[in-house]
Amino acid sequence: MQKITIAIDGFSSTGKSTVAKQLAKALGYVYVDSGAMYRAVTLFAMQNGFIDEKHFDSNKLIANLNTVEILFKFNNKLGFAEVFLNDKNVENEIRTLEVSQFVSQVSEISEVRRMLVKQQQQMGINKGVVMDGRDIGTVVFPEAELKIFMTASAETRAKRRFQELLEKGANVGYDEVLENVTSRDKIDTTREDSPLTKANDAIEIDNSYLSIEEQYKMLLELAEETISNKA
Ligand code: C5P
Repeated sequence: MQKITIAIDGFSSTGKSTVAKQLAKALGYVYVDSGAMYRAVTLFAMQNGFIDEKHFDSNKLIANLNTVEILFKFNNKLGFAEVFLNDKNVENEIRTLEVSQFVSQVSEISEVRRMLVKQQQQMGINKGVVMDGRDIGTVVFPEAELKIFMTASAETRAKRRFQELLEKGANVGYDEVLENVTSRDKIDTTREDSPLTKANDAIEIDNSYLSIEEQYKMLLELAEETISNKA
């Protein structure tokens, strides 16, 4: 069976990773959460004092990028790969609102993008990969056989993310989460290097009113159709 590359792009908190993970599992493909890589670099910048509420020393971050090692290690119990930053499991740490507040600024840096895009392309070199992010169908894998662009209203997305953070025991307010979702959308869509945009050949799915199950079925059908057309 011929393997394909599946690129899933879209706005923050559209549930891309949930469906991408399910899809990869069903197809026996590798799932890569590219946002986790940008989050890991952001955590690195925070831990080293390069970024906080008051300042962002992007030059220091760039100068130290060669000391950043990001790895995904599959956790059999969880059924997905966890992110390691310089040998430390940071899977939970990178999902906090603090990291979300700085990640879009870090993602604007071309040197950061160049380094991560190279690694992402390497991970998908043999196809059989489902990768989600912002520039997967446009920059990382412009030749991907299946490209999905996910959208949902900002309020729907903020509600979902707020719920997720509450379940993890975070002490956050809905307004704070909504503000983070909209400000990340703004930076992600207007940055100079690889802004979030729908590839011409991407299929747009607004999942505001779709259940996770409905969305998964839709994507699985599209993937199976694309794979059989290629065979
Ligand atoms: O997907 P997630 O919301 O975890 O991504 C976090 C941030 O990482 C995004 O808001 C965006 O700024 C950045 N990102 C990116 N390009 C990608 C994936 C994520 O710029 N391919």
